[in-house]
Amino acid sequence: MTTSFTIAIDGPAAAGKGTISKAVAKHFGFAHLDTGLLYRAVGAKVLVGEKPVEAAQDLTAEDLQADGLRTAEVAQAASKVAVIGEVRQALVDFQRSFARRAGGAVLDGRDIGTVICPDADAKLFVTASPEVRAERRYKELREAGSDSDFETVLADVKARDERDMNRAEAPLKPAVDAVVIDTSDLSIEAAVAAAIVAIKEKQS
Ligand code: C5P
Repeated sequence: MTTSFTIAIDGPAAAGKGTISKAVAKHFGFAHLDTGLLYRAVGAKVLVGEKPVEAAQDLTAEDLQADGLRTAEVAQAASKVAVIGEVRQALVDFQRSFARRAGGAVLDGRDIGTVICPDADAKLFVTASPEVRAERRYKELREAGSDSDFETVLADVKARDERDMNRAEAPLKPAVDAVVIDTSDLSIEAAVAAAIVAIKEKQS
């Protein structure tokens, strides 16, 4: 019999949760869902004139493959639609059924351990200082050919943190039973290793 095992990984933008989630999913042979993509896909539709709640209700798997979901503009649009309770509600079932799939699942986002999967088998909260996160995002953007400046990227990171942490619906915060990993002074390898150790402790 194949059983499910759910790993919830939450944290603010550019803290390293995407990298850690992919590495953890590969290590354990689990499926991975980047739940931020759901909100980005809704945000992208709103930028072209759709209504947020309808966009969320009509979201399809193909929408998650759309080009341009990783831009700073779509990230801000995502965090704006993410404050709307009906948008969040429309995305709950998809995330929960993914979490229960046989063979194990890793979901990363903002409210996985607190709201979507409060009974997850393992919960991590991956964080880093705003300056370190902005520096990482700035480097990614420069490497992708953008001419954005550091101060603008830092202001974007802080604006998104502010909106994500202070919204009424499913605000970003560590679950009480989450293991917190601060990646400010960790290499990718060290952060992934810390995550794997924390998850193995929950597997016994
Ligand atoms: O993780 P990512 O940066 O792609 O997420 C984009 C935005 O989507 C976040 O700033 C947040 O507002 C929203 N989000 C959320 N809940 C999640 C995942 C993302 O509110 N589980």
